[in-house]
Amino acid sequence: DAAKVDEKDPAATGLGYKHDATKVDAKKYPTYKAGSNCANCQFYQGKDAWGVCPLLGGKQVNGKGWCSAWAKKA
Ligand code: SF4
Repeated sequence: DAAKVDEKDPAATGLGYKHDATKVDAKKYPTYKAGSNCANCQFYQGKDAWGVCPLLGGKQVNGKGWCSAWAKKA
């Protein structure tokens, strides 16, 4: 399995990624909408609690996480 991304990884901090979407800095990231998370993002490649995200170096992100590249799954 791919490694889990570290929140302090530059790729993660650059996108404001948090393992827990409720911890996102909504002032810094005004595009954040409650209810959006990795599990309902089009980039999320997983069906479980953790899934690979190509935007974070192919590492695993938490389904309940969020970053500023979030885009609604079609
Ligand atoms: Fe999560 Fe989507 Fe950001 Fe990847 S791009 S970390 S799946 S919100």
